[in-house]
Amino acid sequence: MERNDKVRPKKYLGQHFLKDQNIARKIVDALIFDDNKRVLEIGPGMGVLTQYLLLIKDIELKVVEIDKESVEYLKNNFSLLQSDIIEGDFLQLDLSTIYAGTYAIIGNFPYNISSQIFFSILEHKNTINQVVCMLQKEVADRIASPHGSKTYGILSVLLQAYYDIDSCFKVPPGVFNPPPKVMSAVIRLRRNTLKSLPCDERLFVQVVKQGFNNRRKTLRNALKNLNLEADVSALALLDKRAEQLSVADFISLTKIIEDSRAGTNN
Ligand code: SAH
Repeated sequence: MERNDKVRPKKYLGQHFLKDQNIARKIVDALIFDDNKRVLEIGPGMGVLTQYLLLIKDIELKVVEIDKESVEYLKNNFSLLQSDIIEGDFLQLDLSTIYAGTYAIIGNFPYNISSQIFFSILEHKNTINQVVCMLQKEVADRIASPHGSKTYGILSVLLQAYYDIDSCFKVPPGVFNPPPKVMSAVIRLRRNTLKSLPCDERLFVQVVKQGFNNRRKTLRNALKNLNLEADVSALALLDKRAEQLSVADFISLTKIIEDSRAGTNN
């Protein structure tokens, strides 16, 4: 590939290249650094965000890109980056080995895998202290949704339990090549101060997933597989549906189930 050849956008990789420099700068500016400036960019493409990241004083930057053609473009055009380009699939990375300490993730996410990206991030929530990303607006809204809303779901609860979420701004289709069919939005997630939840975290995930997988049922019915003790099953909270429970309610409910099980085992 010649030095200035542009990457041809490939649909199956979710490639929509951002053309607007001001928006690119605004996305990078949404990062808030406290102690360190370690950053992993997902899907740099032709580097529209990368170029602004490299201007940040003392930044430690690595990028992960699955597309060979984009990797070649980056190598030709960003001499500073060379050894910090990881060629591969973000979803296959061992996120605990990227840096020795905590780090931030940034990216214009490939929209087709954005939920999977967040589930990977959740598995490494104590290492990933911040996420700034652009994604399909509908998914961004879901993540930031409060309880009681129709769009509140599994990712809203799991992410809000560990991260404080800010909706930053909306981005219209016309600023991308090719334009996506949907509106986009930028959000920021910052790790809250809870090292762990005050309940069994695996059970918490189970309760949330089961609750929302049957979102029209009352929790009493939705959680049938968990074999709740009669006294737990009698709780008024279980008359509600998953979308009516706040994150704190889910934590309390998990704790109640956990305690009732510990009680039976004694
Ligand atoms: N950051 C660029 C490109 C965004 S499009 C811009 O804003 O213009 C999404 C990018 O993610 C593409 O470059 C695509 O090749 C890359 N990508 C898609 N799936 C990926 C995966 N599983 N792991 C890493 N990168 C991926």
